[in-house]
Amino acid sequence: MTHPKFPHIFSPLTIGSHVVKNRIIMGSMHTGLEDGPEPAKRLAAYFTERVKGGVGMIITGGIAPHPTGGYGAKLTGPEEVAMHREVTSAVHAADPDVKICMQILHSGPLAGVPDAVAPSPVKSRIGRYAPNELDEAGIEEQIAAFARCAALAQEAGYDGVEIIGSAGYLISTFLVEKTNLRTDQWGGSWENRMRFPLEVVRRTRAAVGPDFMLIFRISAMDMLEGGLAWEEVASLARALEAAGVDVISTHFCWHESFVPTIATMVPRAAFAQVTGRLRKEVSVPVITSNRINMPDVAEAVLARGDADLVSMARPMLADAELVKKAYEGREDEINTCIGCNQACLDHTFTGRETSCLVNARACRETELTLAPAAAVKRIAVVGAGPAGLAYATLAAERGHSVTLFDAADEIGGQFNLAKRIPGKEEFHETLRYFGRMIDKHGVDLRLGTRVSAGDLLAGGYDDIIIATGIEPRRPDIPGIDHPKVVRYIDVIRGTASVGQRVAIMGAGGIGFDVAELVTHDGPSGALDVEVFAKEWGIDFKNHPRGGVTGVVPQVQSSGREVWLLQRKTSALGKGLGRTTGWTHRLTLQRRGVKMVAGVEYDRIDDAGLHIRIEGEPQVLDVDTIIVCAGQLPARGLHDELVARGAQPVLIGGAYEAAELDAKQAIKQATELALVA
Ligand code: FAD
Ligand code: NAP
Ligand code: SF4
Repeated sequence: MTHPKFPHIFSPLTIGSHVVKNRIIMGSMHTGLEDGPEPAKRLAAYFTERVKGGVGMIITGGIAPHPTGGYGAKLTGPEEVAMHREVTSAVHAADPDVKICMQILHSGPLAGVPDAVAPSPVKSRIGRYAPNELDEAGIEEQIAAFARCAALAQEAGYDGVEIIGSAGYLISTFLVEKTNLRTDQWGGSWENRMRFPLEVVRRTRAAVGPDFMLIFRISAMDMLEGGLAWEEVASLARALEAAGVDVISTHFCWHESFVPTIATMVPRAAFAQVTGRLRKEVSVPVITSNRINMPDVAEAVLARGDADLVSMARPMLADAELVKKAYEGREDEINTCIGCNQACLDHTFTGRETSCLVNARACRETELTLAPAAAVKRIAVVGAGPAGLAYATLAAERGHSVTLFDAADEIGGQFNLAKRIPGKEEFHETLRYFGRMIDKHGVDLRLGTRVSAGDLLAGGYDDIIIATGIEPRRPDIPGIDHPKVVRYIDVIRGTASVGQRVAIMGAGGIGFDVAELVTHDGPSGALDVEVFAKEWGIDFKNHPRGGVTGVVPQVQSSGREVWLLQRKTSALGKGLGRTTGWTHRLTLQRRGVKMVAGVEYDRIDDAGLHIRIEGEPQVLDVDTIIVCAGQLPARGLHDELVARGAQPVLIGGAYEAAELDAKQAIKQATELALVA
């Protein structure tokens, strides 16, 4: 029967001898579970939760086919099969109709091992070691390793493999001229540069037979100056099909590129049009990806004919039941991936296990279980910011009777400020989700209620949770009361006026966001693909090499002259997310924001902000000084309760304001709510 709302998503697809039950794939993500303790048990729990949540097919995190392929998990010999078999058996037991394919990832120059290999010894800007040039025998060994790895995956019970041939990993470095300087049969002409991937595919197909699904991930637009030309991408796709590939998956990435492709500032499904163009070149199904985070976005992509399958990777961390909820018409219950990268990719690239900012249970399924409460309690939660919301909704879901108070007239706490920053529009989704969970799980929400210690004590609650957040720090500088000085809260809310010349005191996450806000002009790039493309120098229409124009993008700006200041002498933005910080720094640089480290603040008066840099006094003749100097915990209510003999529990910013972000606030609240 045709699904009334998502007919394209819920239409099965036949791939060779396989039928994929719907068009949503959980895309490959390295979680760290592969390398941690009890990998089979934890991976099985992580995947089966998504299987039960309705996904059509899973592609695992990358598994190396050869010891030089990376420092993570490998499948290079029969002794490694058992672990994988446990995972595939669990997935198939949970739903025999769900397919699971293993990604074969040889990281090439990005392997992070001293014996890393590549077609040429070209060191990646982000690689740890210069790779060793493969000789003819070495190339043969690598091709054989791919084929052997696929055969072992077949033995382990996978339905297929995805070979990753994009992003700056081994296979893609054969394809791109910049990274392949060879003059033998493996380099030089396009035919020669294609030889390695095609040989890998032919030999893999020969090793696994016709019924094992073979997916190849191609860089459809690698965002690299001098990267692949469109004609090369199209001819590679055709040649891969002829060599025996069943599905082509499109990737929009080269890890070294200076173009964001998955951060929250990227518009939803921005790159699907490129997949759509490639789909016309081949007759096998194609997969698209990148910032497709809700079912209506996926449905629109499929309906437009841009793809046969949609890969949603991070959205499956954020909500294991995304597909099921879409099927049952419960999209408003989806915990949407906001593209922040804070608990997923930032963790992956710093060697920590993956999780999710909005769903702290992600990858901790065996440890954080959502069991009904053993004894139902009456719980008061004060503060409906991320910490209070996570705690209240999870505790109520477990069966507790929860009353949630907030002094404001809307839920969300500081997320109501975050959502106003251009490029952070996705934060609205988190608030929609929590709002729905409050209704669904019967939390008694009391907005506009600044609750006092007396009220709480009179309420006779079993537990009192204090999630009252933070107070912005007001630095003790002469002249801090001058009318030029405003709080970031008032600037973001639009209740303080901001002049043409602005100094921002403090360059943490909020200082950067405020700089974005006051220098921004026009529509948000996150909501408009054309604006986004212009801001980042992408030419979707003509698809020059790599898809990028190579011209430094002209970023629209409000025209304000802005100084972003910090006292530390380290580079500004060092503490921002590993995978997104550079995008913020680059945007502000392109808008002409002057980023100054090592500042001492002397005083503020009619002349402006008096500072010293390396002892040299200077006056910044500014109209407005915005204070973004960090936060202090708001603990007044807590302390009063303690003084009156109660034992309230602090969470979120009220517990610890330094180094606090929403990831930490939600994680702490979740851990507490699941044991309460
Ligand atoms: P808060 O969000 O501060 O919520 C506290 C709530 O308690 C408020 O709603 C307040 O009204 C209520 N309250 C206080 N006292 C009382 C009382 N007596 N009675 C009733 N109610 C009371 N974090 C990230 O991880 N990633 C980001 O990208 C990010 N961007 C941000 C951008 C901006 C502009 C800002 C301001 C913050 C951003 N943050 C971000 C930080 C994140 O929003 C905070 O870490 C998070 O909101 C802290 O959550 P919390 O629940 O502890 O406190
Ligand atoms: P923050 O990251 O701690 O930054 C505070 C800034 O204020 C620093 O630049 C600090 O630098 C300065 N500062 C501290 N004490 C000061 C003082 N007494 N006088 C003058 N300057 C002082 O805090 P935040 O920017 O307020 O952000 C709060 C939280 O929200 C952070 O945890 C952050 O991670 C999170 N957040 C995250 C994002 C994101 O995109 N991931 C965005 C926004 C917010 P110096 O001491 O060197 O001057
Ligand atoms: Fe999405 Fe952020 Fe969660 Fe990563 S941490 S899955 S980007 S919401």
